[in-house]
Amino acid sequence: MGLLNWNSGQHFDHRGACACTQCGKPTPLRAHSGEPVHKVCAEDWNDHNPGAPRHQLAGRDLGTSRYHSDPPKKHRKDGAR
Ligand SMILES: [Zn+2]
Repeated sequence: MGLLNWNSGQHFDHRGACACTQCGKPTPLRAHSGEPVHKVCAEDWNDHNPGAPRHQLAGRDLGTSRYHSDPPKKHRKDGAR
């Protein structure tokens, strides 16, 4: 399993930290669903749940439906026309 891409600002909750749903320690990070979870904990969950439903976009596998990467940037200089 690859690492998640959570570069989007939506993953950081400026209101403060909540208990991670995986390890219970405070984290300001949020999954796409708004669930508080460390990025490493989400990646670990994905590793241990290979049968979880997948989140796909345009045929690309971005992770599980619970924890998945941000969609790739649309404006790419190396992209096909
Ligand atoms: Zn955690």
